[in-house]
Amino acid sequence: MPDGSRRTPERVASTRLDSYVDRYAARTKGMTASEIRALFAVASRPEVVSLAGGMPNISGLPLDVVGGAISDLVATNGPVAMQYGSGQGDPVLREQICEVMRLEGIEAHPDDVVVTVGSQQAVDLVTRVFCDPGDVVLCEAPSYVGALGVFRAYECDVVHVEMDADGLVPDALRQAIQTVRASGRTIKFLYTIPNFHNPAGVTLSAERRAEVLEICREADVLVLEDNPYGLLGFSGEPMRAMRADEPDGVIYLGSFSKTFAPGFRVGWALAPHAVREKLVLAQESATLCPPAFSQMAISAYLRAHDWQGQIKQFREMYRERRDAMIEALDDMMPAAARWNVPQGGFYVWVTLPPGLDAKAMLPRAVTARVAYVPGTAFFSDGFGSQSMRLSFCYPTPGRIREGVRRLVGVIEEELEL
Ligand code: PMP
Repeated sequence: MPDGSRRTPERVASTRLDSYVDRYAARTKGMTASEIRALFAVASRPEVVSLAGGMPNISGLPLDVVGGAISDLVATNGPVAMQYGSGQGDPVLREQICEVMRLEGIEAHPDDVVVTVGSQQAVDLVTRVFCDPGDVVLCEAPSYVGALGVFRAYECDVVHVEMDADGLVPDALRQAIQTVRASGRTIKFLYTIPNFHNPAGVTLSAERRAEVLEICREADVLVLEDNPYGLLGFSGEPMRAMRADEPDGVIYLGSFSKTFAPGFRVGWALAPHAVREKLVLAQESATLCPPAFSQMAISAYLRAHDWQGQIKQFREMYRERRDAMIEALDDMMPAAARWNVPQGGFYVWVTLPPGLDAKAMLPRAVTARVAYVPGTAFFSDGFGSQSMRLSFCYPTPGRIREGVRRLVGVIEEELEL
Protein backbone atom coordinates (compact mmCIF):
# COMPACT_ATOMS: atom_id res chain seq x y z
CA MET A 1 0.00 0.00 0.00
CA PRO A 2 1.54 3.37 -0.96
CA ASP A 3 2.46 5.43 2.11
CA GLY A 4 0.06 8.33 1.36
CA SER A 5 -3.03 6.12 1.39
CA ARG A 6 -2.47 5.31 5.06
CA ARG A 7 -2.85 8.93 6.09
CA THR A 8 -5.78 9.80 8.30
CA PRO A 9 -8.44 12.08 6.72
CA GLU A 10 -7.34 14.94 9.01
CA ARG A 11 -3.78 14.73 7.81
CA VAL A 12 -4.85 14.73 4.18
CA ALA A 13 -7.04 17.79 4.82
CA SER A 14 -4.28 19.67 6.60
CA THR A 15 -1.83 19.14 3.77
CA ARG A 16 -4.22 20.47 1.07
CA LEU A 17 -4.64 24.14 0.27
CA ASP A 18 -7.90 25.48 1.67
CA SER A 19 -10.16 25.98 -1.35
CA TYR A 20 -12.78 27.75 0.80
CA VAL A 21 -10.42 30.51 1.83
CA ASP A 22 -12.15 33.28 -0.19
CA ARG A 23 -15.55 32.50 1.27
CA TYR A 24 -14.93 32.76 4.99
CA ALA A 25 -16.29 35.67 6.98
CA ALA A 26 -13.80 38.40 7.85
CA ARG A 27 -14.03 37.46 11.54
CA THR A 28 -12.36 34.10 10.90
CA LYS A 29 -9.07 35.95 10.43
CA GLY A 30 -9.03 36.33 14.20
CA MET A 31 -9.70 32.62 14.73
CA THR A 32 -6.29 31.05 15.08
CA ALA A 33 -5.26 28.00 17.07
CA SER A 34 -3.98 29.05 20.48
CA GLU A 35 -0.39 28.29 21.35
CA ILE A 36 -1.76 26.07 24.08
CA ARG A 37 -3.74 23.89 21.70
CA ALA A 38 -0.75 23.31 19.50
CA LEU A 39 1.12 22.19 22.61
CA PHE A 40 -1.44 19.71 23.85
CA ALA A 41 -0.43 16.89 21.49
CA VAL A 42 3.21 17.07 22.54
CA ALA A 43 2.64 17.83 26.19
CA SER A 44 0.33 14.86 26.68
CA ARG A 45 3.02 12.34 25.74
CA PRO A 46 3.78 10.36 28.93
CA GLU A 47 7.51 11.07 28.87
CA VAL A 48 6.90 14.84 28.89
CA VAL A 49 6.27 16.59 32.21
CA SER A 50 3.58 19.05 31.25
CA LEU A 51 3.58 22.26 33.22
CA ALA A 52 1.57 23.67 30.32
CA GLY A 53 -2.11 22.74 30.52
CA GLY A 54 -4.57 24.05 33.08
CA MET A 55 -6.48 20.79 33.44
CA PRO A 56 -8.07 20.47 36.87
CA ASN A 57 -6.91 17.37 38.73
CA ILE A 58 -10.16 15.55 39.40
CA SER A 59 -8.60 12.31 40.60
CA GLY A 60 -9.99 13.02 44.08
CA LEU A 61 -13.62 13.19 42.98
CA PRO A 62 -15.85 10.55 44.60
CA LEU A 63 -16.90 8.80 41.40
CA ASP A 64 -19.19 6.46 43.35
CA VAL A 65 -21.15 9.46 44.66
CA VAL A 66 -21.26 11.08 41.23
CA GLY A 67 -22.30 7.77 39.64
CA GLY A 68 -24.99 7.23 42.29
CA ALA A 69 -26.37 10.74 41.80
CA ILE A 70 -26.50 10.21 38.03
CA SER A 71 -28.22 6.79 38.35
CA ASP A 72 -30.82 8.29 40.67
CA LEU A 73 -31.32 11.12 38.22
CA VAL A 74 -31.93 8.72 35.33
CA ALA A 75 -34.25 6.56 37.44
CA THR A 76 -36.33 9.38 38.88
CA ASN A 77 -36.16 12.15 36.32
CA GLY A 78 -34.57 10.65 33.19
CA PRO A 79 -37.09 11.90 30.62
CA VAL A 80 -36.69 15.50 31.81
CA ALA A 81 -32.89 15.26 32.01
CA MET A 82 -32.74 13.92 28.44
CA GLN A 83 -35.12 16.49 26.99
CA TYR A 84 -34.51 20.07 25.80
CA GLY A 85 -34.67 22.49 28.70
CA SER A 86 -34.90 26.18 29.45
CA GLY A 87 -32.62 28.53 27.48
CA GLN A 88 -31.77 30.26 30.74
CA GLY A 89 -30.87 27.04 32.50
CA ASP A 90 -32.41 24.70 35.04
CA PRO A 91 -34.22 26.70 37.76
CA VAL A 92 -33.14 24.36 40.56
CA LEU A 93 -29.49 24.59 39.54
CA ARG A 94 -29.77 28.37 39.28
CA GLU A 95 -30.88 28.46 42.92
CA GLN A 96 -27.93 26.29 43.91
CA ILE A 97 -25.60 28.56 41.92
CA CYS A 98 -26.84 31.45 44.05
CA GLU A 99 -25.84 29.45 47.14
CA VAL A 100 -22.36 28.90 45.69
CA MET A 101 -21.97 32.63 44.96
CA ARG A 102 -23.05 33.50 48.51
CA LEU A 103 -19.65 32.14 49.63
CA GLU A 104 -18.15 35.22 47.96
CA GLY A 105 -20.63 37.68 49.40
CA ILE A 106 -22.99 37.80 46.42
CA GLU A 107 -26.71 38.11 47.09
CA ALA A 108 -28.35 37.20 43.81
CA HIS A 109 -31.73 36.12 42.51
CA PRO A 110 -31.82 32.90 40.44
CA ASP A 111 -33.70 34.83 37.80
CA ASP A 112 -30.58 36.87 37.06
CA VAL A 113 -28.45 33.78 36.41
CA VAL A 114 -27.94 32.31 32.93
CA VAL A 115 -26.41 28.85 32.76
CA THR A 116 -23.81 28.46 30.01
CA VAL A 117 -21.64 25.76 28.45
CA GLY A 118 -18.71 26.45 30.75
CA SER A 119 -17.81 30.02 31.61
CA GLN A 120 -16.03 30.03 28.25
CA GLN A 121 -19.44 30.27 26.57
CA ALA A 122 -20.41 33.03 28.97
CA VAL A 123 -17.43 35.09 27.75
CA ASP A 124 -18.62 34.41 24.21
CA LEU A 125 -22.24 35.39 24.88
CA VAL A 126 -21.31 38.60 26.68
CA THR A 127 -19.00 39.59 23.84
CA ARG A 128 -21.62 38.69 21.24
CA VAL A 129 -24.19 40.84 23.03
CA PHE A 130 -21.93 43.88 23.59
CA CYS A 131 -19.21 44.10 20.98
CA ASP A 132 -19.13 45.34 17.41
CA PRO A 133 -15.95 45.04 15.35
CA GLY A 134 -13.42 47.62 16.50
CA ASP A 135 -14.87 48.01 19.99
CA VAL A 136 -12.28 48.02 22.73
CA VAL A 137 -12.12 45.45 25.51
CA LEU A 138 -9.74 46.29 28.34
CA CYS A 139 -7.86 43.24 29.65
CA GLU A 140 -5.13 42.68 32.16
CA ALA A 141 -1.61 42.22 30.79
CA PRO A 142 -1.36 39.23 30.52
CA SER A 143 -4.86 37.75 30.20
CA TYR A 144 -6.68 34.42 29.77
CA VAL A 145 -5.90 33.00 26.34
CA GLY A 146 -9.43 31.62 25.84
CA ALA A 147 -11.01 35.04 26.39
CA LEU A 148 -8.50 36.71 24.05
CA GLY A 149 -9.57 34.17 21.43
CA VAL A 150 -13.22 35.17 21.85
CA PHE A 151 -12.42 38.89 21.64
CA ARG A 152 -10.42 38.28 18.47
CA ALA A 153 -13.22 36.22 16.93
CA TYR A 154 -15.64 39.15 17.43
CA GLU A 155 -13.01 41.52 15.98
CA CYS A 156 -12.60 43.52 19.17
CA ASP A 157 -9.47 45.53 19.89
CA VAL A 158 -7.86 44.33 23.09
CA VAL A 159 -6.10 47.02 25.11
CA HIS A 160 -3.95 45.53 27.85
CA VAL A 161 -3.72 47.20 31.26
CA GLU A 162 -0.69 46.73 33.49
CA MET A 163 -0.83 44.44 36.54
CA ASP A 164 1.53 43.97 39.45
CA ALA A 165 1.67 41.70 42.49
CA ASP A 166 -1.68 43.13 43.72
CA GLY A 167 -3.45 42.69 40.38
CA LEU A 168 -4.67 45.33 37.97
CA VAL A 169 -2.99 48.72 38.54
CA PRO A 170 -5.70 51.39 39.07
CA ASP A 171 -3.65 54.28 37.66
CA ALA A 172 -2.90 52.27 34.55
CA LEU A 173 -6.62 51.57 34.18
CA ARG A 174 -7.49 55.27 34.49
CA GLN A 175 -4.85 56.09 31.91
CA ALA A 176 -6.00 53.37 29.50
CA ILE A 177 -9.63 54.57 29.65
CA GLN A 178 -8.50 58.12 28.96
CA THR A 179 -6.19 57.20 26.09
CA VAL A 180 -8.71 54.92 24.37
CA ARG A 181 -11.48 57.52 24.63
CA ALA A 182 -9.19 60.32 23.46
CA SER A 183 -8.57 58.27 20.33
CA GLY A 184 -12.34 58.21 19.67
CA ARG A 185 -12.81 54.51 20.32
CA THR A 186 -15.54 52.85 22.38
CA ILE A 187 -14.76 50.75 25.43
CA LYS A 188 -17.34 47.99 25.91
CA PHE A 189 -16.03 46.44 29.12
CA LEU A 190 -13.11 45.64 31.35
CA TYR A 191 -12.45 41.89 31.39
CA THR A 192 -10.77 40.95 34.66
CA ILE A 193 -9.86 37.78 36.57
CA PRO A 194 -9.52 39.07 40.12
CA ASN A 195 -8.71 35.79 41.89
CA PHE A 196 -5.65 33.60 41.30
CA HIS A 197 -5.28 34.99 37.84
CA ASN A 198 -4.84 32.86 34.76
CA PRO A 199 -1.99 33.14 33.77
CA ALA A 200 -0.39 35.62 36.21
CA GLY A 201 -1.30 33.82 39.47
CA VAL A 202 -1.92 37.12 41.31
CA THR A 203 -5.03 38.29 43.19
CA LEU A 204 -6.57 41.75 43.10
CA SER A 205 -6.30 43.18 46.62
CA ALA A 206 -9.44 44.28 48.50
CA GLU A 207 -8.46 47.98 48.31
CA ARG A 208 -7.82 47.71 44.60
CA ARG A 209 -11.20 46.02 44.05
CA ALA A 210 -12.91 49.07 45.51
CA GLU A 211 -10.70 51.42 43.49
CA VAL A 212 -11.21 49.56 40.21
CA LEU A 213 -14.97 49.53 40.77
CA GLU A 214 -14.96 53.26 41.50
CA ILE A 215 -12.94 54.05 38.38
CA CYS A 216 -15.29 51.95 36.25
CA ARG A 217 -18.39 53.47 37.87
CA GLU A 218 -17.16 57.01 37.27
CA ALA A 219 -16.09 56.26 33.71
CA ASP A 220 -19.22 54.20 33.03
CA VAL A 221 -17.26 51.09 32.04
CA LEU A 222 -18.92 47.72 32.56
CA VAL A 223 -16.85 45.10 34.41
CA LEU A 224 -16.77 41.45 33.30
CA GLU A 225 -15.56 39.60 36.40
CA ASP A 226 -14.38 36.11 35.40
CA ASN A 227 -13.99 34.01 38.50
CA PRO A 228 -13.50 30.28 37.96
CA TYR A 229 -10.83 29.95 40.70
CA GLY A 230 -12.28 32.09 43.51
CA LEU A 231 -13.07 29.15 45.83
CA LEU A 232 -9.62 27.61 45.34
CA GLY A 233 -7.65 29.84 47.71
CA PHE A 234 -4.98 28.17 49.84
CA SER A 235 -5.74 30.00 53.09
CA GLY A 236 -8.49 31.99 54.73
CA GLU A 237 -11.95 32.81 53.45
CA PRO A 238 -12.76 33.43 49.77
CA MET A 239 -12.28 37.04 48.67
CA ARG A 240 -15.42 39.11 48.33
CA ALA A 241 -16.50 39.20 44.67
CA MET A 242 -16.52 42.58 42.91
CA ARG A 243 -20.11 41.83 41.91
CA ALA A 244 -21.07 41.71 45.61
CA ASP A 245 -20.48 45.47 45.85
CA GLU A 246 -21.65 46.55 42.42
CA PRO A 247 -24.71 44.61 41.18
CA ASP A 248 -25.42 47.05 38.34
CA GLY A 249 -21.97 47.55 36.89
CA VAL A 250 -20.61 44.01 36.95
CA ILE A 251 -21.36 40.84 35.01
CA TYR A 252 -20.01 37.94 37.05
CA LEU A 253 -18.94 34.63 35.51
CA GLY A 254 -18.63 31.39 37.46
CA SER A 255 -17.93 27.76 36.61
CA PHE A 256 -18.16 24.25 38.00
CA SER A 257 -15.09 23.23 35.98
CA LYS A 258 -12.54 23.75 38.74
CA THR A 259 -14.66 23.09 41.82
CA PHE A 260 -16.30 19.97 40.43
CA ALA A 261 -15.46 18.73 36.92
CA PRO A 262 -14.96 20.40 33.54
CA GLY A 263 -16.46 17.53 31.53
CA PHE A 264 -20.02 18.57 32.37
CA ARG A 265 -19.33 21.93 30.70
CA VAL A 266 -21.45 23.99 33.05
CA GLY A 267 -20.74 27.58 33.98
CA TRP A 268 -22.87 30.66 34.40
CA ALA A 269 -23.27 34.41 34.09
CA LEU A 270 -24.92 36.61 36.70
CA ALA A 271 -25.97 39.83 35.02
CA PRO A 272 -28.12 42.92 35.58
CA HIS A 273 -31.68 42.02 34.63
CA ALA A 274 -31.84 43.66 31.20
CA VAL A 275 -28.50 42.18 30.18
CA ARG A 276 -29.62 38.79 31.42
CA GLU A 277 -32.54 38.87 28.97
CA LYS A 278 -30.18 39.57 26.07
CA LEU A 279 -27.84 36.79 27.19
CA VAL A 280 -30.72 34.29 27.19
CA LEU A 281 -31.65 35.30 23.64
CA ALA A 282 -28.03 34.89 22.61
CA GLN A 283 -27.90 31.52 24.38
CA GLU A 284 -31.03 30.33 22.61
CA SER A 285 -29.61 31.20 19.21
CA ALA A 286 -26.29 29.58 20.06
CA THR A 287 -27.42 26.30 21.66
CA LEU A 288 -31.22 26.45 22.20
CA CYS A 289 -30.45 25.57 25.81
CA PRO A 290 -27.50 24.51 27.93
CA PRO A 291 -27.38 20.71 28.39
CA ALA A 292 -30.19 19.63 30.72
CA PHE A 293 -28.46 16.37 31.62
CA SER A 294 -25.25 18.04 32.77
CA GLN A 295 -27.11 20.64 34.77
CA MET A 296 -29.33 18.13 36.53
CA ALA A 297 -26.35 15.85 37.22
CA ILE A 298 -24.50 18.73 38.88
CA SER A 299 -27.62 19.68 40.77
CA ALA A 300 -27.95 16.09 42.05
CA TYR A 301 -24.25 15.99 43.01
CA LEU A 302 -24.57 19.24 44.97
CA ARG A 303 -27.55 17.77 46.84
CA ALA A 304 -25.99 14.36 47.45
CA HIS A 305 -22.50 15.36 48.44
CA ASP A 306 -20.57 17.57 50.83
CA TRP A 307 -19.39 19.73 47.91
CA GLN A 308 -17.78 22.30 50.16
CA GLY A 309 -15.73 19.53 51.81
CA GLN A 310 -14.76 18.37 48.32
CA ILE A 311 -13.57 21.86 47.39
CA LYS A 312 -11.53 21.93 50.60
CA GLN A 313 -9.82 18.71 49.51
CA PHE A 314 -9.09 20.20 46.10
CA ARG A 315 -7.59 23.27 47.81
CA GLU A 316 -5.31 21.11 49.94
CA MET A 317 -4.15 19.09 46.94
CA TYR A 318 -3.42 22.21 44.89
CA ARG A 319 -1.64 23.88 47.81
CA GLU A 320 0.68 20.89 48.15
CA ARG A 321 1.45 21.14 44.42
CA ARG A 322 1.97 24.90 44.61
CA ASP A 323 4.41 24.32 47.48
CA ALA A 324 6.27 21.69 45.44
CA MET A 325 6.61 24.05 42.50
CA ILE A 326 7.73 27.05 44.53
CA GLU A 327 10.22 24.96 46.48
CA ALA A 328 11.64 23.56 43.24
CA LEU A 329 11.90 27.03 41.70
CA ASP A 330 13.55 28.40 44.86
CA ASP A 331 16.05 25.54 44.88
CA MET A 332 16.97 25.39 41.23
CA MET A 333 16.14 28.50 39.17
CA PRO A 334 18.97 30.87 38.22
CA ALA A 335 19.08 34.00 40.37
CA ALA A 336 18.03 36.35 37.57
CA ALA A 337 14.68 34.58 37.05
CA ARG A 338 11.55 35.92 38.82
CA TRP A 339 8.24 34.35 39.80
CA ASN A 340 5.33 34.94 42.12
CA VAL A 341 3.87 32.77 44.89
CA PRO A 342 0.18 32.31 44.06
CA GLN A 343 -2.25 32.16 46.97
CA GLY A 344 -4.66 29.91 45.10
CA GLY A 345 -5.57 28.56 41.69
CA PHE A 346 -3.30 26.73 39.27
CA TYR A 347 -0.57 29.01 37.91
CA VAL A 348 2.85 30.55 38.48
CA TRP A 349 4.12 33.28 36.15
CA VAL A 350 7.86 33.07 35.60
CA THR A 351 9.98 35.79 34.04
CA LEU A 352 13.22 34.45 32.58
CA PRO A 353 16.65 36.03 32.93
CA PRO A 354 17.13 38.94 30.50
CA GLY A 355 17.93 37.94 26.94
CA LEU A 356 15.97 34.65 27.00
CA ASP A 357 12.91 34.08 24.85
CA ALA A 358 10.40 31.54 26.21
CA LYS A 359 8.78 30.93 22.85
CA ALA A 360 12.04 30.33 21.03
CA MET A 361 13.18 28.06 23.85
CA LEU A 362 10.07 25.85 23.83
CA PRO A 363 11.18 23.31 21.19
CA ARG A 364 14.36 22.71 23.21
CA ALA A 365 12.32 22.33 26.38
CA VAL A 366 10.06 19.77 24.70
CA THR A 367 13.16 17.87 23.56
CA ALA A 368 14.21 17.91 27.21
CA ARG A 369 10.72 16.49 28.01
CA VAL A 370 9.15 19.43 29.76
CA ALA A 371 6.40 21.73 28.47
CA TYR A 372 5.11 25.17 29.50
CA VAL A 373 3.12 27.92 27.84
CA PRO A 374 5.16 30.87 26.51
CA GLY A 375 4.01 34.26 27.80
CA THR A 376 3.22 35.54 24.31
CA ALA A 377 0.06 33.36 24.29
CA PHE A 378 -1.48 35.66 26.88
CA PHE A 379 -0.98 38.96 25.11
CA SER A 380 -2.74 40.20 22.00
CA ASP A 381 0.21 42.36 21.03
CA GLY A 382 3.28 40.11 20.95
CA PHE A 383 4.50 40.98 24.46
CA GLY A 384 5.45 38.37 27.02
CA SER A 385 8.35 36.67 25.22
CA GLN A 386 10.53 36.72 28.34
CA SER A 387 7.83 35.02 30.44
CA MET A 388 6.06 31.70 30.74
CA ARG A 389 3.11 30.20 32.57
CA LEU A 390 3.78 27.12 34.68
CA SER A 391 0.79 25.10 35.89
CA PHE A 392 1.05 23.06 39.05
CA CYS A 393 -2.50 21.70 39.03
CA TYR A 394 -2.10 18.39 37.25
CA PRO A 395 1.29 16.67 37.82
CA THR A 396 2.19 15.08 41.15
CA PRO A 397 4.64 16.98 43.40
CA GLY A 398 7.42 14.58 42.33
CA ARG A 399 6.72 15.21 38.63
CA ILE A 400 6.57 18.95 39.24
CA ARG A 401 10.04 18.86 40.76
CA GLU A 402 11.34 16.77 37.89
CA GLY A 403 9.70 19.15 35.39
CA VAL A 404 11.34 22.18 37.00
CA ARG A 405 14.70 20.34 37.04
CA ARG A 406 14.43 19.71 33.29
CA LEU A 407 13.31 23.27 32.64
CA VAL A 408 16.21 24.73 34.61
CA GLY A 409 18.58 22.50 32.62
CA VAL A 410 17.27 24.06 29.39
CA ILE A 411 17.47 27.61 30.79
CA GLU A 412 21.06 27.06 31.92
CA GLU A 413 22.01 25.80 28.47
CA GLU A 414 20.42 28.88 26.91
CA LEU A 415 22.35 31.14 29.26
CA GLU A 416 25.61 29.49 28.21
CA LEU A 417 24.95 29.96 24.47
N1 PMP B 1 -11.92 31.79 32.47
C1 PMP B 1 -10.70 31.48 32.92
C2 PMP B 1 -9.89 32.55 33.56
C3 PMP B 1 -10.21 30.18 32.80
O1 PMP B 1 -9.00 29.90 33.27
C4 PMP B 1 -11.02 29.20 32.18
C5 PMP B 1 -10.55 27.76 32.00
N2 PMP B 1 -9.24 27.55 31.85
C6 PMP B 1 -12.29 29.58 31.73
C7 PMP B 1 -12.71 30.87 31.90
C8 PMP B 1 -13.21 28.61 31.05
O2 PMP B 1 -13.61 27.58 31.90
P1 PMP B 1 -14.87 26.68 31.65
O3 PMP B 1 -15.41 27.00 30.29
O4 PMP B 1 -14.39 25.29 31.76
O5 PMP B 1 -15.84 27.06 32.72
